[in-house]
Parts: sequence; C-alpha cells; structure tokens
Amino acid sequence: KESSSKENNVAKIKVVVRKRPLNKKELARKEDDIVTVYDNALTVLEPKLKVDLTAYVEKHEFCFDAVLDERVTNDEVYRVTMEPIIPTIFQRTKATCFAYGQTGSGKTFTMQPLPLRAAEDLVRLLRQPVYHNQRFKLWLGFFEIYGGKLFDLLSERKKLCMREDGRQQVCIVGLQEFEVSDVQIVKEYIERGNAARSTGSTGANEESSRSHAILQLSVKKHSEVKDSRRNNDVNESKSGKVVGKISFIDLAGSERGADTTDNDRQTRIEGAEINKSLLALKECIRALDNDQIHIPFRGSKLTEVLRDSFVGNSRTVMISCISPNAGSCEHTLNTLRYADRVK
Ligand code: ADP
Ligand code: MG
Repeated sequence: KESSSKENNVAKIKVVVRKRPLNKKELARKEDDIVTVYDNALTVLEPKLKVDLTAYVEKHEFCFDAVLDERVTNDEVYRVTMEPIIPTIFQRTKATCFAYGQTGSGKTFTMQPLPLRAAEDLVRLLRQPVYHNQRFKLWLGFFEIYGGKLFDLLSERKKLCMREDGRQQVCIVGLQEFEVSDVQIVKEYIERGNAARSTGSTGANEESSRSHAILQLSVKKHSEVKDSRRNNDVNESKSGKVVGKISFIDLAGSERGADTTDNDRQTRIEGAEINKSLLALKECIRALDNDQIHIPFRGSKLTEVLRDSFVGNSRTVMISCISPNAGSCEHTLNTLRYADRVK
C-alpha cells in the first residue's frame, strides 16, 4: 500500500485550507481581515479584551499541506487537490474530497466546479485506447444526507437506503446514476442537483447548510458480451463493475453541529446528527492516516455511506474553508483546529 502511494507520488490524506475574500457586507462594516497566509501556513489574529477592557490580539499559527489565499482561483484549487488523483482512479482508487467550514465560508463555491473539472480529465483519459478498449465508462450520481436520511438529488428527491454487500462494497439502493460521455451534461446535473437540495421555509442557503451533498463520479468496467440479457436481474451487469470512484462532499455548515440546544426540536435533532457525522468523519480520517485496520465508520450515516472509500486504495482531500473577517474568528479557529486534528 505504502509503495503504491509513493509511486503515484500522491499523499493518502491531504488537508488544504482556503481563505475567501472579505465580502461586500464585511467591507461595508469595515471589518478587519484577521487571516494572513504565508506559503503553506497561516496566522489568525484573534481580537480580545482584558478584564480592564484594554484591547489586544492573540496570534494563532497553523500549518497545512497547502494554504490557498483569497486570490486563488477554482482552477488552481483543482490543480492542488484533485488533479493529481485522477490517474489513480483507473487503478482501483476510491477518492473523497470534502469541503468543511462554517456556513458562508465558501464550501459550495469551492466544491461546485470540482466534479466538472474532474469529469473533463476522466473523460479525456477514457477516450484513450487503453481504457476505451477495456470498456470503461464514467457514471454520475448525486444525493444528499439530511437528518440522517438519504435523498436522490437527480430523481425528485426519492428516498434512498444503503446496503452493504459481502465484500465491503456500499450500495445505495435506488440511486439513479447517469452515464456521462461529455462534460456539458455534468454541468447540468450539478446545477439540477444543487437546485434540488433541501429548502425549507427559511430559504435555500439556510437549509442546505444542514445537509451533506454527495456527488459521485464512478469509473465502471462493462462486460463485453450478453450484457443486455442479464440486465433485468443483476443491477451490476447493467451498470458495470466499479473500478474507482470519487466522492465530492459539500458538508453541512460546521457551526450547525452546535445547534443541539436550540429551542426547536427538529433543529436540535439535526444539529446532533451533524455533530455526530463531523466527529465520525474526523475519527475515520485519523484512523486512515494511522493505517489503522479498524475504521470507525459506523459512527454516522455519512461515514457508513463512505465506508468503501475508507478501505483499500483510498485518497482523501479535505478543503477547510474559512472566512477572513474578525466577526467569524471563533468559527475560523474551530475549523482550523478540526483540520489540524485530522492531520
Ligand atoms: P457555504 O457553502 O460554505 O455556505 P458559499 O460557497 O455559498 O458558502 O459562499 C458564500 C458566498 O461567498 C457566496 O456568495 C460565494 O459566491 C462567495 N465566495 C465564497 N468563496 C469565495 C471566493 N474564494 N472568492 C469569491 N467569492 C467567494
Ligand atoms: Mg453551501
């Protein structure tokens, strides 16, 4: 395992931080930008008050695999995070890319274009004779975990359930997957799926911050003959056998895990579920990093769904998104500490 990761020259777990620019509101309020990026490190200047109310700042320093400042484009994010992993997908790798952070820190902004760029590269590789001749095809599915339940974002929010086969492969029963042979269609699926994310009385962004959205790109190998005959009974023969896959995950707002004392019962239940899944995720990534044999994936629906991505040839990229303004300082520090503990 060790040697193969060295051959590909890709680390098994990569933690990247991305800082967004101050937005219009923050600029209008003349808020300070308290985050400064240096190479692969950053500092946060935390505004504080002494008991006698004299103001001072406490300086926090963090170091990660990469730190991307507010000038970095989504294209560069792709190059740093997913691009090196793409060729390994054809060698049975299951990759996961998470965006973590408080609501408004840039998770969706960061995650949305990544599957599109990845699909572009995958489709280009699939057209090469070596893969084309092996009948490799690319498939896309997009679903959401909301309140511990699964919903298909490309099939009228149909409720889904999860099953495991005997070989530690996760099967999401009923998930509609689409074959993608050109990239334009991927863009349409992403937009359709995002539009279908949970919306409640409080509005789209508010509710989507309480759900995890998971977009999966799978490379499957299709058998050569008599496929159509077996279509009816065996799902696998219809859609092929998974060679490798990438899961792109736009996580619930990290601050939502603290919604466990809210007056509203539903909000409390959701907060507890989010808290559980973010903790379980951290534990699983840490176990992976330590090459532990036992991965505690049973801790939450999120990690159960990702079970097959935590065993064997796996690659994990976490992109921690942070807001630069002084008013977000506490959330920013929480996000950086979470990322720090994952490493
Ligand atoms: P989240 O999904 O974490 O709640 P969003 O991705 O919706 O946050 O981002 C909040 C707002 O900030 C959006 O209007 C988005 O366009 C903007 N934004 C986020 N990151 C960046 C960035 N790096 N550069 C420019 N605008 C950004
Ligand atoms: Mg979002």
